[in-house]
Amino acid sequence: MTSKRPTVGQWMEVHGERCKIVKVLPAGTVDVESPSGASYRVTGLGFPDRKVRKARAARSEGGYCNCACPDCFEIAISGHGEPAMCNECEEAGCDGESECQAPGAYGGDGE
Ligand SMILES: [Zn+2]
Ligand SMILES: [Zn+2]
Repeated sequence: MTSKRPTVGQWMEVHGERCKIVKVLPAGTVDVESPSGASYRVTGLGFPDRKVRKARAARSEGGYCNCACPDCFEIAISGHGEPAMCNECEEAGCDGESECQAPGAYGGDGE
């Protein structure tokens, strides 16, 4: 449970620059922005992503969709056009019907 999973607002070093994560995508991909205004897409972080496994990562055409949780605006991976939940919601045990259980689901305005 100590594996580092990137979250929006975290800082990470990319190409020697300290960059802020502005978007977290499934499959170990994040979009970051450096203070100088450059933005990068970082892939292959390799953090555990249960959703990818569940959605059969081998099927590369698996589409991104909005999280099935009604309060959540994260991106989830959908295997075959079915509703899918993002990692946060899956881990938090959201059922896709009642309100979101994931911490930071409302945009994480906290520090
Ligand atoms: Zn979600
Ligand atoms: Zn949720």
